[in-house]
Amino acid sequence: MIGLCTLILTAVVHAASVDTQRHRLARDGMLSAIRADYQDTANYIGQDRADPDVLLAMGKVPRHEFVPRGARRHAYANRPLPIGHGQTISQPYIVALMTDLLDVEAGDRILEVGTGSGYQAAVLAALVSQVYSIEIIEPLAEQARQRLQRLGYSNITVRAGDGYFGWRQHAPFDAIVVTAAASHVPPPLIEQLKPGGRMIIPVGTRFMVQELLMVVKDDAGSVTTRQILPVRFVPLTGGH
Ligand code: SAH
Repeated sequence: MIGLCTLILTAVVHAASVDTQRHRLARDGMLSAIRADYQDTANYIGQDRADPDVLLAMGKVPRHEFVPRGARRHAYANRPLPIGHGQTISQPYIVALMTDLLDVEAGDRILEVGTGSGYQAAVLAALVSQVYSIEIIEPLAEQARQRLQRLGYSNITVRAGDGYFGWRQHAPFDAIVVTAAASHVPPPLIEQLKPGGRMIIPVGTRFMVQELLMVVKDDAGSVTTRQILPVRFVPLTGGH
């Protein structure tokens, strides 16, 4: 009897964490939706296709592991989903676009502000050597840390804190991605960006249109900003 219980329990645990054929098919559907959104927004972003490496990375990350159990059946829908504490995991197309715009290279060290579920960090981790991610809501930071560890992402470091101030200890970064909307581009993040580096950040308030911005620091350290696309993100909070 004990043996049978153990067997059943093992099967249940296994089913909860395994990446099945059904998940892989759903992930293919998600990639098709992302490709379609690229076509629809080509005028804004100046390209009608996603970087194949980004799609490859998103085809690998088990998004269903990053959403609450009750939302699993929507895990691969091309839309944001609630993750608790009033926060959301971003829409897959937006994750693809932000990752794509960062234009990362294999050896890069990336800072993410707004860990949330850890999904964006996991997608980046498939493409670069090290991801540092900061989350202001402690329980979310802790959950993301445990989830990423359980899924075997060894090149992501998560800490709880206010990402407005960046992560001085690991700066400068090759690229920075902010996944919550700020009222302005935080100066500490510009400081912590390497010359030649890029930051992708939504800027605007909760009640106004937010714009996804690409901030580029050239080799001489001058900064230019380009508007990419109107977007909607949860706000960047904190005491700054
Ligand atoms: N990248 C996430 C989605 C994040 S939603 C994912 O892939 O799931 C935005 C997150 O930013 C929320 O979890 C929110 O708590 C966090 N956040 C808001 N203000 C912050 C700040 N000042 N510093 C760090 N994280 C912040």
